[in-house]
Amino acid sequence: MNEGSIALAIKCAPVPDILANVVNAGITGVELYTNLKWLENIQGTIKTCQDFPLRYMVNSPPNDYSPCIVELAQAINAELVVFHDVFWEDEWSGIKKDFNGTNIQVCVENVSSSIEVVKIMRRFGFGLCLDLEHFQMQTSGLFEDVLPQIISPAKHIHLTGYFHGSKCWHTHLHHSPEHVKNILNLISLSGYQGYVVSEGKTSLQTLSEFRKLNKFFIDWKSSL
Ligand SMILES: [Zn+2]
Repeated sequence: MNEGSIALAIKCAPVPDILANVVNAGITGVELYTNLKWLENIQGTIKTCQDFPLRYMVNSPPNDYSPCIVELAQAINAELVVFHDVFWEDEWSGIKKDFNGTNIQVCVENVSSSIEVVKIMRRFGFGLCLDLEHFQMQTSGLFEDVLPQIISPAKHIHLTGYFHGSKCWHTHLHHSPEHVKNILNLISLSGYQGYVVSEGKTSLQTLSEFRKLNKFFIDWKSSL
């Protein structure tokens, strides 16, 4: 991505049909969902990814760790790897060692509280992946005045169409256009530079959904 900009990415598994939908919709970034099954066939997963002209990031398995994630991230030139906050301190130390000597940014994602990850970031020097769906579920809404302060340390952002009281969990950004435009404006105001990953569920990972999403994002950017 260009320096100084906010870009759109999709989170999805390394499935050829879905990656083809992303490319055909004109979206250039993918955060790769992984689990141990995808990492068992790591060469197949790498080959699938290399078949598409995409910029990759990697989402490590949600409840497990495999050092194969480093090999995968390097093979597909991933810029960063995201981990859920599910590890013990000695396991974080091991992850830090495994990524030493790479230029891959390690990020920790807030799962139940936006401050739970601060101690890990402080101890290990990792970056913050701010999941704004998790954040809104934790806070039962948004206090917009403080949102730019919450966003500013983020190296990476996950966002959906969810808002408090809605049933829009894991929908794409365009499913709640006014709410999401407001959040995107706050992200921009905070000075954030990086990817905003739309975490739509598998049933929404279609060409038509990706086209609507990309148009929504381009229209928002041109309104700035
Ligand atoms: Zn997330």
